[in-house]
Amino acid sequence: ASLFASVDMAPRDPILGLNEQFQADPNPNKVNLGVGVYTDENGKLPLLACVKEAENVLAEIPKPRGYLPIDGIAAYDKAVQSLVFGADSEVLRAGRVVTVQALGGTGGLKVGADFLKRLNPSARVLISDPSWENHRALFESAGFDVGNYPYYDAAARGVAFEAMLGALNQAQAGTVIVLHACCHNPTGYDLTPAQWGQVIAVVQARGLVPFLDMAYQGFGEGIAEDGAVIQQFVASGLDFFVSTSFSKSFSLYGERVGALSVVCESKEEAARVLSQLKRVIRTNYSNPPTHGAQVVTTVLSTPALRAQWEQELANMRERIRSMRAALVDRLKAHGVATDLRFITRQKGMFSYSGLTPQQMERLRAEYGIYGVSTGRICVAALNTHNIDYVAKAMAAIMR
Ligand code: PLP
Repeated sequence: ASLFASVDMAPRDPILGLNEQFQADPNPNKVNLGVGVYTDENGKLPLLACVKEAENVLAEIPKPRGYLPIDGIAAYDKAVQSLVFGADSEVLRAGRVVTVQALGGTGGLKVGADFLKRLNPSARVLISDPSWENHRALFESAGFDVGNYPYYDAAARGVAFEAMLGALNQAQAGTVIVLHACCHNPTGYDLTPAQWGQVIAVVQARGLVPFLDMAYQGFGEGIAEDGAVIQQFVASGLDFFVSTSFSKSFSLYGERVGALSVVCESKEEAARVLSQLKRVIRTNYSNPPTHGAQVVTTVLSTPALRAQWEQELANMRERIRSMRAALVDRLKAHGVATDLRFITRQKGMFSYSGLTPQQMERLRAEYGIYGVSTGRICVAALNTHNIDYVAKAMAAIMR
């Protein structure tokens, strides 16, 4: 028999599989609301003007491409820190935060997961139910047993907060709790600052390990507003992990720009943690790539480009919000009489529409509208050209 005779076919990634189906669909009106990508008013993936400008600046002083340090570009790591923790953060001043450049938010999560596995091999990991489809697989592939904490309350169209808190209250000390810092994927429902306070209290009382996944900073309420949860964790005095992704906020999906930050108890502890993170990176991919991180560093550290980025990010955020409001309006106009305010209450790129798998299948088959069978639709893929078609189809299905 051949070497690979016993290799099973791995299951298809459900969302990327949906993409392939979409590409093959001949329907001229088809709309892809499956994949989590921001497209502009014309349905195109944007190249941000600040990114283009940063690339021009970099192209004018071409540099040889040597290896980066294992933990990435130092100026990048610093820029990420002040974005995530605030420029005048006391934990930064105290040298208590370690930040390493990573291959997107996914890379940040994986470096953190591998480090945690070495630190506490028998720990469990809890992710939200539901969560980003890669969380479970990622932590399982790092060797963890992964469970859920309740998160979505379908009937209330919101967070099942009491149930969530109850589950955290029963978790064993050392359990890693993966939390969506903002713009929860897939539901769009976030915790309030008061609820975060309660989560922090339980995490602290039970000795749990918080791992905040921040993939959408700036897509909810604003850069500082979305980052406020980090300030709450800092204020609690807890040690914690934060993964950062710039895939969405810089529209740099293919450049794989992200980071992992770890808040430690002391500067001395941070140095030891950094040495271990470097070991994880070194044995996986040695060191990260240059281009995307250079672009982000240039934008974040050049005042004019930084201002331009904040404006462009605000434009993306506002366009998504206006699409939420428009979706509610059009659904009503097309005869949907139920309370739709949940759509504008949700934050970020996604909406859990509340549609059943059967209804999502009908949207696909009858209208060429591709959302995830869980009912998740990407609001950031709606625009003034396709929204009426989508709203009309959804209304027809909901009746
Ligand atoms: N975490 C969450 C919650 C996400 O939704 C995503 C991307 O969809 C990621 C992490 C991964 O981000 P990246 O593409 O930068 O690896």
